[in-house]
Amino acid sequence: MRFTVRGVPQEIADEVRRTHLSPGYGHPVHLEIASGTGPCRCCLRPFVAGRDQRLLFTFRPRSDDGSLMAPGPVFIHAGQCEAFSGAGFPEALRTLPLAFEARESGSRVSELSARPDVSPEAQIDVLFREHEARWLHVRHAEAGCFIARVDRDT
Ligand SMILES: [Zn+2]
Repeated sequence: MRFTVRGVPQEIADEVRRTHLSPGYGHPVHLEIASGTGPCRCCLRPFVAGRDQRLLFTFRPRSDDGSLMAPGPVFIHAGQCEAFSGAGFPEALRTLPLAFEARESGSRVSELSARPDVSPEAQIDVLFREHEARWLHVRHAEAGCFIARVDRDT
């Protein structure tokens, strides 16, 4: 199955770096040295703990059907980075504990898959084929935060 993984859009990451305000909410972002691996929700690469500077802000993933999407805290690199725009599953995410959340109509969560023994591709395939997911969210399996969205290619 072919699919597309996208994190925080480039224009939103650029706006956060320029304004230091959370988009849509307006509260200040927090700048810190990374204490964990993240990852960066823009380029989808892990942070180097103790070295990389990162920005913490509130992000609300987009919805396709007007459903109310929950905002949550996310990190991005404080310096410029390029939003992940490749095909398939980002190699850099494979080292992190991940949970895949199937979203159905109305953005209800219909299934959750967090199996370190199974490849991301296989988990994504099952959620789309067997749980009628319209799209998926990738979350950090320990922190719970939004990492990226997965859409099935048509
Ligand atoms: Zn980045």
